[in-house]
Formats: sequence, structure tokens, C-alpha cells
Amino acid sequence: MAGEPQTDCLFCKIVSGDIPATIVRESETTVAFRDINPQAPTHVLVIPKVHYPDAASLAAAEPTIAADVLTEAGAVAADEKIDSTGYRIILNTGSGAGQTVFHAHAHVLGGRGLQWPPG
Ligand code: AMP
Repeated sequence: MAGEPQTDCLFCKIVSGDIPATIVRESETTVAFRDINPQAPTHVLVIPKVHYPDAASLAAAEPTIAADVLTEAGAVAADEKIDSTGYRIILNTGSGAGQTVFHAHAHVLGGRGLQWPPG
């Protein structure tokens, strides 16, 4: 059921603590942890604790929590001191866009020059 923990979801298992992660921030509704395969000096994922398959379905069902994800992404950037140099928040949506984990998440990337458009 949408919003409920999924037994086969990697990020639900990070929320529950069944799979370890390097957690850098936590709020009532979100968890932020370092990406296991970082693509930049700072590469943190911010996820809602509730399970929705992507950011759009999260925003449609739980707009306040979707806003929390973005607020926490900004807080991560401030914590990592990349807010002054610029950073990117990425919401891959669908396998064609490179989404591989179907639990909504925002990538926070920074600490190096970032090209536009992304690949
Ligand atoms: P996406 O491709 O947008 O679905 O992003 C999923 C991200 O999750 C990728 O950047 C992976 O490197 C990352 N990832 C996968 N497994 C883990 C894990 N156990 N801990 C932290 N990050 C992970």
C-alpha cells in the first residue's frame, strides 16, 4: 500500500535500520545519507521515511513531506558547505532517466564543477 514500508525496498530497509548507511541528517519525516557510489565530493541522498516509488507520486500524495525532502536537501548543502559554490538537487524519475531505486529520493551533489546539460 502506498506510503507503507515495502519489504523488498532497499531504502525502506535503511529507514528501519536493517541496512546500514552513513546518515548525515534525520528529521521526523526524512533521512539523509551518503550515496554508496558517490559521483561528486558531496553526494547525499535525501529520502522520505514513507515509501512512494518516486518524487512525483510522493508530492501528489504527501506534498508537505515532499517539501520536507527539498528543505532537508538545502540543509545538507549548508552542512556540507556547498551552498555558496552551487550544488544540484536531482530527482531521477523512471528507469529511462536513470532511476534504479524505486523509493523517492533526492540526490544532493556538489563540491566540484557540474556540467549542463547533465548526461
Ligand atoms: P537512482 O539511480 O536515482 O535511483 O539513485 C539511487 C542511488 O542509490 C544510486 O546513486 C546508488 O549509488 C545509491 N545506492 C544504492 N544502494 C545504496 C546503499 N546501500 N547506500 C547508499 N546509497 C545507495
